[in-house]
Amino acid sequence: MATAEAQVLEDPSVPGRPDSRKLYETRLRRRQATSKFDIHEIRLSEVGHCLRAATLRILEYEADPTSLRQESIFQKGDEEEDHIATWWEDEYPGQIDRQVEVHSPFGTGHMDIWCIPLRHYVEAKSTTLKSVPYLPIKDHVDQVQLYHHYWIQPTGGGTAEIVYRVKESGEPLVFPVVYDAAYAQELVARLERVRGAVEFGVPLPVPRGVYMDQFPCGWWSDAGEFTTCAFWKHCWVAGAPDTTSDPAIIDAVARLKRVEELHDRVEARGKRVARVRDALRAALGRIMDACGSGVVRAGGLEAVRLTANGWTDYNGRAAIEAGVVTKAAMEPFARERLGRVTWKVRDLAELAVKKRAPKQPSQKKKKGA
Ligand code: SF4
Repeated sequence: MATAEAQVLEDPSVPGRPDSRKLYETRLRRRQATSKFDIHEIRLSEVGHCLRAATLRILEYEADPTSLRQESIFQKGDEEEDHIATWWEDEYPGQIDRQVEVHSPFGTGHMDIWCIPLRHYVEAKSTTLKSVPYLPIKDHVDQVQLYHHYWIQPTGGGTAEIVYRVKESGEPLVFPVVYDAAYAQELVARLERVRGAVEFGVPLPVPRGVYMDQFPCGWWSDAGEFTTCAFWKHCWVAGAPDTTSDPAIIDAVARLKRVEELHDRVEARGKRVARVRDALRAALGRIMDACGSGVVRAGGLEAVRLTANGWTDYNGRAAIEAGVVTKAAMEPFARERLGRVTWKVRDLAELAVKKRAPKQPSQKKKKGA
């Protein structure tokens, strides 16, 4: 018999039977609702992240909710950690601790895998092939240094590693992290900054050198979505539309203008190159026509012309306008098209000069003149 939860998920076309995707989404929603973290605590694992984000969260600034896709990424990370833990549990049965709590004067952290007989800590992560050259990630090393500082060293010492499992191949890449007491003190000073800001009730400023369109603030995900930090609106939108004095926004608009100009130049160049290409194709096409072949071989190269047969298309809109067919009859063949978004970045000083300049009489001759 279906549970109450499953009944809510029923596919109306197949009563009583939810599909795997819906079940997975339910699982993710449950996960979203049960976090092991206290939002008012400093998380040791965040020491290498943007500290402003930590202060915004602790001071209860509104955060964008985690999307199901992000939740799924976290879920996948947990599954990876469970899998890596089995390698250790198989070799050291009953001697592996998971999610060991690390307490500090600032907040709590969790060590993924602790091998008791070796006194060895494993921080488990996953990665992709394209990210391998950037490993280990500094944020992860900082986190492990803090766990060394607050747990491994005070409880008798030990070793630590970060293991990244490559998604495409399953191969593990291991990076040992040796305790560096002086560096750990620098990290502690970062946590002090967060605590000081929270005590004053004022979030830390946007760090120097970050951009609204680059990680960790905003970035294009592998899925092709522009993704942002959960607190993005408190850093980059709060002053809009009166933003002209905000250096970060001034910089972003200026960069957009430069990038658009560069894009226009590249595109114009691309068009010129395409004209040259088309002329060469046309010339070689004539030679092919003369030879009755679609191939020309010359100087060790081969140019091939492939021709697809044409087809007839029908213009439904024109047919409706001409009254040949009704709109209702065409409804089943309708396709929704997304609206277009266009951008323009204009130099306000140049625009003002143009507006002041007297209009030149049109050069176009009127018909019949
Ligand atoms: S948007 Fe950028 S600066 Fe603002 S909290 Fe997030 S990461 Fe930090």
